[in-house]
Amino acid sequence: MLTDTHTHLYSDAFDEDREAMMKRAFAEGVQRFFIPAIDSQSTNAMYALEEKYPDRIFLMMGLHPTSVKEDYESELAHVEAEFKSRTFYAVGEIGVDLYWDKSTLKIQQDAFRRQIQLAKKYKLPIVIHCRDAFDEVFEVLELEKGEDLFGIFHCFTGTLEQAKQAISYNMKLGIGGVVTFKNGKIDTFLAQIDLKHIVLETDAPYLAPVPFRGKRNESSYLSLVAKKIADIYSVSEREVARITTENSKEIFGI
Ligand SMILES: [Zn+2]
Repeated sequence: MLTDTHTHLYSDAFDEDREAMMKRAFAEGVQRFFIPAIDSQSTNAMYALEEKYPDRIFLMMGLHPTSVKEDYESELAHVEAEFKSRTFYAVGEIGVDLYWDKSTLKIQQDAFRRQIQLAKKYKLPIVIHCRDAFDEVFEVLELEKGEDLFGIFHCFTGTLEQAKQAISYNMKLGIGGVVTFKNGKIDTFLAQIDLKHIVLETDAPYLAPVPFRGKRNESSYLSLVAKKIADIYSVSEREVARITTENSKEIFGI
């Protein structure tokens, strides 16, 4: 059994064939799907997905850093109101993204920190989005570190040193399609990180693994990521599935 710890299955990229796409994922052994939020626009679509597959779909709630704009107070209020109203399995995805917009760094860090505090209040993990912003993300984690801080560094693409630093904050590394890329780099040092720190993800519909690189990604391709991890660690795919699913249970509590 494989667990996709990060997949945007509610995306309109799947509106034409969502049911067939889910069947392909089940057929590949992908049975648990953790769904990160983006902003208030995505909330209803997430609930509709959960209603369709209640035993398979586990929702997160949070404000994505690229959606942190001038109106972010009302977006954060939406996140808080949703947490009051029902159960979620993580606060995510949250963090800092300086690839798309550097001018919002201060409010991105403010939204990130306040959502970490929300996660602590509900004793939940955080799921971090970090793009061109390792120093800026670590700066916030340094302020909030402690036993009550834990989660996943989603789509980890840093160096060995940055991997070790992320793990020091009780983070698992979310590994996806990038590990299959020729210039992805993380495959060169990943074997030095114990498998107990690794969870698998697709980030569908983005970042499809080889041989689908550049195309729409979907959760059934998680098996290609598992295969690559099995190669890197010289263990069976079965073992990769077992350990990474265990790791996901440790983080999400389910
Ligand atoms: Zn994502």
